[in-house]
Amino acid sequence: MKPNLWIVIPCYNEEKVLPITCDMFLNKIKELEKKGLIGEASKILFVNDGSKDKTWEIIEDLSKKDTHFIGISQSRNRGHQNAVLAGLMEAKDKCDITISIDCDGQDDINAMDKMVEEYLNGAEIVYGVRSKRKTDTFFKRFTAESFYKLLKTMGVQVVFNHADYRLVSSRVLKEFENFKEVNIFLRGMFPLVGFKSTSVYYERKERIAGESHYPLSKMLGLAFDGITSLSIKPIRIITAMGLLVALLGMIGIIWVIITVITGNSIIGWASTLCIILCVSGVQLVSIGVIGEYIGKIYMEVKARPRYIISEKTYNKD
Ligand code: UDP
Ligand code: MG
Repeated sequence: MKPNLWIVIPCYNEEKVLPITCDMFLNKIKELEKKGLIGEASKILFVNDGSKDKTWEIIEDLSKKDTHFIGISQSRNRGHQNAVLAGLMEAKDKCDITISIDCDGQDDINAMDKMVEEYLNGAEIVYGVRSKRKTDTFFKRFTAESFYKLLKTMGVQVVFNHADYRLVSSRVLKEFENFKEVNIFLRGMFPLVGFKSTSVYYERKERIAGESHYPLSKMLGLAFDGITSLSIKPIRIITAMGLLVALLGMIGIIWVIITVITGNSIIGWASTLCIILCVSGVQLVSIGVIGEYIGKIYMEVKARPRYIISEKTYNKD
């Protein structure tokens, strides 16, 4: 039996890019069907992540145009990770395999053939890995690669240069459903599920149209916890304050050294002041880090829904 594939595509304010890339996805799914790699009941599932523009209207129109296109809409914007999760959970009982991919055409859809082949060869998870980052700016490449290295040093198991372009079988998704956390970071969670996995390499391209929703600030947020949360912001401010105080202390140390060398020092007070500043800075940073974990626990105990689907283009009754 050929596996039925659902391509899960998160979309947030993508009215510029969707009309262009939708045909790419449609052609690809038809091509895979023709090749006999996937079943005829395969679908392209758009997840509208509370867009403020015409994205949902476009998805509704597409679903009327071709039965391959279907869509669900989230009640509000919840971020990329939650949108992907909503799509995967929607798909898990209705298909055999899913492939999650961004809607902006940056990830090479031609890697899908290889992904499905790997699945047919026994892999349950196939990670799409960016082999080159030529089209990214030096800054994006540097920050992104540092991000993976930082995660690794911190003990998070991630596949280097893999984002959220991946094939996951419904078997894995049914187990993944038991990972109930609210703070979700999908690329770090799937390796924890286990099962046989492999990687497929592709070149990352430039966004076809529209703008990235991941400026540096958002990338930092993702590196920090995956979701930003108002309730733990004050703790982050404490962390920042700590860093500032520590910095002042360090500048102070340099200043003390200079005054000692130039012979203008009043023995004792400056060095004491620097030590106090440094130590209290470190203490504040530490409180901030602990607070970050408490903030996470706070969000987890509340166990609020991770996504709420408000509309679907199918099963409307
Ligand atoms: N996205 C989303 N919700 C958000 C932000 C982004 O669903 O709050 C989607 C977006 O439509 C795109 C994907 O996530 O399909 C990746 O976003 P983007 O291309 O802006 O990020 P980048 O590729 O620059 O990291
Ligand atoms: Mg993108």
